Amino acid sequence: MLYAAGAADGDGAAPGAANAAGSAASKVYPIYTSVHVSLGVGADLSRRPHVLHVPCRIDSGGGRGATEVGLKHYCYEPSFAPPGKSVVRAMLVADYDWWKALRTRADGRAAYDAEKERIGAEVAALVEAHYPEARGKIEVVDVATPTTYERYCNAWRGTWMAWANTPGAKIRGVPATLPGLTHFYQAGQWLLLPGGLPVAVVTGKWAIQHVCRAEKVRFRP
Ligand SMILES: Cc1cc2nc3c(=O)[nH]c(=O)nc-3n(C[C@H](O)[C@H](O)[C@H](O)COP(=O)(O)OP(=O)(O)OC[C@H]3O[C@@H](n4cnc5c(N)ncnc54)[C@H](O)[C@@H]3O)c2cc1C
Repeated sequence: MLYAAGAADGDGAAPGAANAAGSAASKVYPIYTSVHVSLGVGADLSRRPHVLHVPCRIDSGGGRGATEVGLKHYCYEPSFAPPGKSVVRAMLVADYDWWKALRTRADGRAAYDAEKERIGAEVAALVEAHYPEARGKIEVVDVATPTTYERYCNAWRGTWMAWANTPGAKIRGVPATLPGLTHFYQAGQWLLLPGGLPVAVVTGKWAIQHVCRAEKVRFRP
């Protein structure tokens, strides 16, 4: 017996009647994307708090201003940077449509690249302001935008998770089966709010359990 498993992706897997409500514009089923700035710093920040939430005024693109950002260092994992150096990252909630339009402009990528550079420089200045030992020691600045997530991960609208839970949300889960389609079980982050890796993994397990039940085979974890 042949079974198909679908890795449910946001575009097609919006929960049935909630398809329209699952659009990016929805307040009930919102999705989020971001500009992600990663910095290689030639200083050891391991004595600093793991995360600093700091006020800021950084436009993450299209006038969408961030008033606060979390600066996180990864010194707890020694393999992420050479001894005496640190990786720091900042994530700024961003507007997918604005970035998509900028990235695909007919006149080229200059404006897109300039925006990335501007945001990278502003975040680098913020890092230097809050970690004085990093001043003049930022060696690498890498900026990923919502279209980077889309390009590298095929993430729908650059989202990092599925729909966020909100008080008005009625749909918490989507069935693994589709009406009228036999031998098909879907798995993936869009089946259970708010998505993420744990949801993708557990729904994959559930899909296998469905197959085992249908085949009368004992599921062995
Ligand atoms: C930048 C970023 C950071 C993240 N950070 C975290 C984190 O810290 N913690 C966490 O829990 N989660 C995080 N996530 C989310 C996590 O990566 C996803 O929840 C997880 O990858 C979802 O797994 P999935 O199998 O449902 O979908 P995916 O991993 O998106 O896999 C779906 C696959 O289907 C393919 N596909 C899509 N459409 C079609 C089609 N029509 N035909 C054939 N193939 C198709 C895609 O190319 C893709 O390979 C992050 C995501 C991103 C983008």
